[in-house]
Amino acid sequence: MAGTGAARRGRTRLVGATRRALGVVDYTLAKRALLRDARIGLRSVTELCDAHPELMRAARHVGEETRSDCPVCGREKLVLLAYVYGDTLKRENGRVWSIATALRMAAAHPGSCCYVVEVCRRCSWNHLREAYSARRAAAG
Ligand SMILES: [Zn+2]
Repeated sequence: MAGTGAARRGRTRLVGATRRALGVVDYTLAKRALLRDARIGLRSVTELCDAHPELMRAARHVGEETRSDCPVCGREKLVLLAYVYGDTLKRENGRVWSIATALRMAAAHPGSCCYVVEVCRRCSWNHLREAYSARRAAAG
């Protein structure tokens, strides 16, 4: 059984409040299905560990470390990156941010969406972890 629900660090408390103000889609089940497919040979590991060089560079420089081991190589902690997309974001569209900043931006821009991606800096595993959408009443 996967070890989920580990205690979050104190600095994510603010993130928690912002999270609740946004609509959340959790991609854990999709990730488990993908990993299961790899275990039984329906997918190759290289297919799973295909992080784009740009994503790897961002993971190295601004990735926020988690306590979760990489589900593929198990040899390094995963890091999280966040991207925000929205019509009103203009040049900031699709840039990489810290989780807290990305969630604040999403909350401040109704209709935008924040995507949190997990990355292993060792084997290049990457997967969408959560998506947050800013509803009209989310700000404030
Ligand atoms: Zn890995």
